[in-house]
Amino acid sequence: MTQSKWLDAELKYDSGVFNKHQVVITRGQGAVVWDEQGRAYIDCMVGAGVANVGHSHPDVVRAVQEQAAKLMVLAQTLPNDRRAEFLTELVSVLPQGLDRVFLCNSGTEAMEAAKKFAITGTGRQRFVAVKRGFAGRSLGALAFTWEPKYREPFGEAVDNRHVDFITYGNLDELRAAVTDETAAVILEVVQGEGGVRPASLEFVQEARRITKERGALLIIDEIQTGFGRTGKMFGCEHYGVIPDGITLAKAMAGGVPVGAFAMTAAVADRMPAGGHGSTFGGNPLAMAAGVAALRAMKREGMAEQAREKGAYFMEKLRAIGSPKIREVRGLGLMIGVELKEKSAPYITALEHDEGVLTLPATPLVVRFLPPLTISREQIDQVVTSFARVLENVNPRADRQAELAAQAPGQPAR
Ligand SMILES: *Cc1c(COP(=O)(O)O)cnc(C)c1O
Repeated sequence: MTQSKWLDAELKYDSGVFNKHQVVITRGQGAVVWDEQGRAYIDCMVGAGVANVGHSHPDVVRAVQEQAAKLMVLAQTLPNDRRAEFLTELVSVLPQGLDRVFLCNSGTEAMEAAKKFAITGTGRQRFVAVKRGFAGRSLGALAFTWEPKYREPFGEAVDNRHVDFITYGNLDELRAAVTDETAAVILEVVQGEGGVRPASLEFVQEARRITKERGALLIIDEIQTGFGRTGKMFGCEHYGVIPDGITLAKAMAGGVPVGAFAMTAAVADRMPAGGHGSTFGGNPLAMAAGVAALRAMKREGMAEQAREKGAYFMEKLRAIGSPKIREVRGLGLMIGVELKEKSAPYITALEHDEGVLTLPATPLVVRFLPPLTISREQIDQVVTSFARVLENVNPRADRQAELAAQAPGQPAR
């Protein structure tokens, strides 16, 4: 038993796949969330980059409230005003030519759709994915996810014999892997789970050139990099590249689950009618949230905000100058600090001692994905906190504190 009935219930009944924090968050606003005792945390996790417009953005809240009273769910075979509005808004911000959209509810579903549309769109079945890439956890998307620990427990059910993995950034491997059997090359322009690694200009541009030459598609996974996160509406805009398809989710609807695969008409037109589907995809409630979030992003210039604040944030992080830091890298407000040791004790200390929520990305990296609306004062506070934990935390002592904080009887996961 812990101090909290909510924590007890969640630890008792959850499937157990999540490494739960010892805190119960009950409320969020902007860049801050509060726990059940009313303690505030600056949220640089936002559900791995979901709340780009901030938690409970007033426009999103209003749109959801109004739409909930009007119509929440509707088959995608029945056209709807909110869905039409959302598609129009989305296509207006997408790169030129990506004007056909399959709607679903999550990132992994967007990857599944991309995979099926790539197969029917090209009549080919092989894929090129990249090492350290992350594409989601359904069995189809998992085939593109490189990290073995995500795949190995499931044995042969994760069939990835149709996927060739190449080193991220290696032009020779890229050129050798893409053949006239390749349906698509799939990559993130900044690897998120893989450690916050921006791709080189040459790699992304060569991926565009070689796929075009060999009749394959280039599909960019913008699930984490999309919607202003990197300082442009979509990460691929930094590279001057227009792909044949983009997978989207996370921040698209201001915190409400929405996923999408946006593609060219040439790709969409080859999918047989009924070849794919989704019950909840494109539901009016999520669409209303999406319209409000997209308009807020445009009106408040959130990509611009991410560009300026990201540069400021990274400059301040670099100025910490701790000998424990190997590298500060990122694009916009997608920032990773690679340490020379495991990042987990520092992430825990940031939460417990400083009230700052961050994420790991590979064992050595502390990842910062704050709302794009975060203030400079809040960034200053996060950097001061980070400098303090780098100074004060001694990982061995911290490990003992972590064990002590664990609820008695709870297995250490
Ligand atoms: C989060 C993420 C996914 C999976 O999205 P879910 O909504 O969790 O299914 C896929 N690709 C990338 C790059 C992601 O960051």
